[in-house]
Amino acid sequence: MLTDYHLHLRRDEDRSPPERFAFTPENVDRYLAAAEEAGVKELGCSEHIYQFRQALSLWRHPFWEEQARDDIDGYCEFVRTTPLRLGIEVDFVPGAEDRTESLLDGRDFDYVVGSVHFVGERAVDMEGDHDIWRAEGDADTIWRRYFELLGHAARSGLFDLLAHPDLVKKWGSERPSPDRDPRFYYEPAVEAIAESGIAVEVSTAGLRKPVAEIYPAPALAGMCVEAGAAFSLSSDAHSPDEIGYAYDRAVDEMRSWGIEEIAVFERRERRMEPLG
Ligand SMILES: [Zn+2]
Ligand SMILES: [Zn+2]
Repeated sequence: MLTDYHLHLRRDEDRSPPERFAFTPENVDRYLAAAEEAGVKELGCSEHIYQFRQALSLWRHPFWEEQARDDIDGYCEFVRTTPLRLGIEVDFVPGAEDRTESLLDGRDFDYVVGSVHFVGERAVDMEGDHDIWRAEGDADTIWRRYFELLGHAARSGLFDLLAHPDLVKKWGSERPSPDRDPRFYYEPAVEAIAESGIAVEVSTAGLRKPVAEIYPAPALAGMCVEAGAAFSLSSDAHSPDEIGYAYDRAVDEMRSWGIEEIAVFERRERRMEPLG
């Protein structure tokens, strides 16, 4: 079985009302056709929570204020009219755990993807005003804080799977990297993954980024395997042509790490299916 649970129907640059393009049957059909072509059996979308006006009850970051346009219930209702699984990508906002829980609990998601993009007020994966690397730049501190937060996200119990687990490496050699062995930074996150039982996302999005490597890195994947973690598989597609992106390579790598099964989600219940 192959799945693609982390995809976005709305492109970052699309400012039009969602009913005009993003959340339309025609747009979903393009993704479904691409999935069929790629041999991906189960498809689910996971729009960013900060696209929705309701997310401003969690955090009033300037980027979120700028992005929050859509209605979360309209999104959920629309997805339920399609064959897609209903997911959502939710940033872990420290201190807003209760509010995040109540925002998610009243809605019938198949799964919730937990993400860490922001460390404090700045993002590890964004260019421009919110770029943490431009503002702070110390790789040791940024990596340490990133993986600690990822561990808190895992332990929060809010999420079914952890997105792009080592997103902090996204820029590859375009940003500083720490001198220490990366396993030092992974440690607290892996401990939290093991204790919480959360699934870890294998994402081919990293191959499309400057780092040109799957998330997670082999060393992190190995530690997660050793810790007994479950894995999911996604492309983080932002357009239909990215569905199932580089899955042959991902499946080969996963097998080489000792992964034989992937996680499948329905109404927030997880079951395991053979990979491939
Ligand atoms: Zn993300
Ligand atoms: Zn995403």
